[in-house]
Amino acid sequence: MSAIVAIVGRPNVGKSTLFNRLIKRREAIVDAVSGVTRDRHYGKTDWNGKEFSIIDTGGYVVGSDDVFEQEIDKQVELAIEEADAIIFMVDVEAGITGMDEAVAHLLRKSKKPVFLTVNKVDNAMREADAVEFYGLGFQEYYTLSGINGSGTGELLDAIVEVLPERETIEEDSLPRFAVVGRPNAGKSSFINALIGEDRYIVTDIAGTTRDAIDTRYNRFGFEFNLVDTAGIRRKSKVKEDLEFYSVMRSVRAIEHADVCILIIDATRGFEGQDSNIFWLAERNRKGVVILVNKWDLLEKETNTAKEYEAQIRKEIAPFTDVPIIFMSVLNKQRIFKAIEKAVEVYENRSKRIATSKLNELMLPLIENYPPPALKGKYIKIKFCTQLPTPTPQFVFFANLPQYVKEPYKRFIENKLREHFDFHGVPIDVYFRKK
Ligand code: GDP
Ligand code: GDP
Repeated sequence: MSAIVAIVGRPNVGKSTLFNRLIKRREAIVDAVSGVTRDRHYGKTDWNGKEFSIIDTGGYVVGSDDVFEQEIDKQVELAIEEADAIIFMVDVEAGITGMDEAVAHLLRKSKKPVFLTVNKVDNAMREADAVEFYGLGFQEYYTLSGINGSGTGELLDAIVEVLPERETIEEDSLPRFAVVGRPNAGKSSFINALIGEDRYIVTDIAGTTRDAIDTRYNRFGFEFNLVDTAGIRRKSKVKEDLEFYSVMRSVRAIEHADVCILIIDATRGFEGQDSNIFWLAERNRKGVVILVNKWDLLEKETNTAKEYEAQIRKEIAPFTDVPIIFMSVLNKQRIFKAIEKAVEVYENRSKRIATSKLNELMLPLIENYPPPALKGKYIKIKFCTQLPTPTPQFVFFANLPQYVKEPYKRFIENKLREHFDFHGVPIDVYFRKK
């Protein structure tokens, strides 16, 4: 699990500009595969060989510019709780504002390392203007131009210096399943039903927080670790806050897992937050199983499940090759089926296809349906192989790889999925020059 760095600050100071600059390289690859652009507020980067996650808290908390102080408080509270280091961004063009002062006040009380970062310092004159920000009461500040990138190196050097070394070697190699989903979907009930004891009683103690915990679990010959986000509750928060925190907590649990068991509430359908969690898992190349819980509460007709399933698949397109199971924890209906599926997905994710078998199958398919010629040039794919990566990635070698377009990549992905079972697993397809 990597360390987390959060960017906080009032709207328009340049948080998302910096965020995008930091995560660009890595996320671009994923984008090219899914062919879909999405707003991201969470991503990974590395500096001096240290990998860490970045959260643009502004992106999570507010949708527009008319932000209230309350929102900023939430953002900062989140950063203080979740992050290992905080980038507090201000804007040299605007100078110190009341909102900056309010944020500074909250941050000074925290024990987390804070990096006051003066943005939009695009030239030397503005460097001099930045001095004003000593007024916010921090020992030092960093200057930055998020737009042209100058200053980023110094800031990142200082940040990685304070980041904790997080263990990268797992203590055991058991599959890790994260149980994620919105509040009230039935996560604790599910885990209790599996484990068979009431260990996840909701506590209502002020400020109760804990990281996701692992439970070693052995049933019907499967042995795995459950990474649980369910027990986490906060006192007297309004509904949106709970939702918001549940997504943020899921970030860590998902990173730490091989397969995400996403539980949704059948009475509510697949909603925005479900979709956030789903794409978080997909982007992190985790296996996914969707459990539609509380199926007992729905009035059912002949096609209810079928229609429900189709609706969800529409929401998760183009990554639709995912198991969807209708479950009732209350009636103990299909809860073990759910675990069986998670184990299958785990196995699919670590599946290796022998190069000979892969070529034997894929090359004739490609021959029958080659990539369309571009500018009168024919694209020839000669060879393919699966990379020795932790998640399935395939490389196809071609004379003109740059001419292979998205629809053809999708065709290849679909064929791979058709012939080798990658149910529930994101796969990557690359074209390279040979
Ligand atoms: P956020 O609301 O804090 O996420 O801010 P944005 O990243 O959306 O940036 C707000 C505005 O500031 C945009 O118009 C950016 O183009 C601009 N901006 C961001 N960084 C810089 C910079 O380093 N220099 C200048 N001149 N403008 C910047
Ligand atoms: P969590 O917040 O995701 O951990 O959700 P809980 O496990 O606390 O469940 C929320 C509520 O839904 C509780 O009142 C459960 O009793 C109820 N619940 C959970 N699973 C089912 C189910 O399959 N059917 C019905 N009818 N209720 C359920």
